[in-house]
Amino acid sequence: MHEWALAEAILTSAKQIAEQEKLKEVTEVTIKVGELQQVEPPILRFALSQMKSDIFKSAKFRILKAKSTLKCRVCGTAWQFNFKKLDKATAEAIHFVPEVAHTYIKCPKCGSPDFEIVCGRGVWLQDIKGAK
Ligand SMILES: [Zn+2]
Repeated sequence: MHEWALAEAILTSAKQIAEQEKLKEVTEVTIKVGELQQVEPPILRFALSQMKSDIFKSAKFRILKAKSTLKCRVCGTAWQFNFKKLDKATAEAIHFVPEVAHTYIKCPKCGSPDFEIVCGRGVWLQDIKGAK
C-alpha cells in the first residue's frame, strides 16, 4: 500500500508545480527513487496510472533509480556505491534492511564499516514536462 500513498503524494506535488508553471496539461513526469528506498517501480507506476486524472490524463511517468552516496563517519570520505554490483541475495538483504549494508560495505580509504547513507533513500520529482 506504500506505493499508493507515494503515488498520491507525487501527484499532489506534481500538480502544484504544474500550477506554478501554468501548465494546462502534463505530458511527462520524471520521478527519481533512491535505490535503497523500498519502492517497487512497477507497483508505483501502476498506482500512478490508476490515480491520474485532470491534467495528468495523458501523462507518462518515468521512474528512475538514483545511485547512493555513502560517507565514512571515521575519515569523512564520501563515495558513490552501486548496489547493483552486489550479488542478488546481498542486494535484497540491504534493500529490506539498509543497516545490513554495514556488514558488506567498508570505506574505500580507511576500511571502516561505520558510514552513513547520505543519499539513496527518498523519492523526488526530477522533471515535469507539459503544455501551456
Ligand atoms: Zn573512512
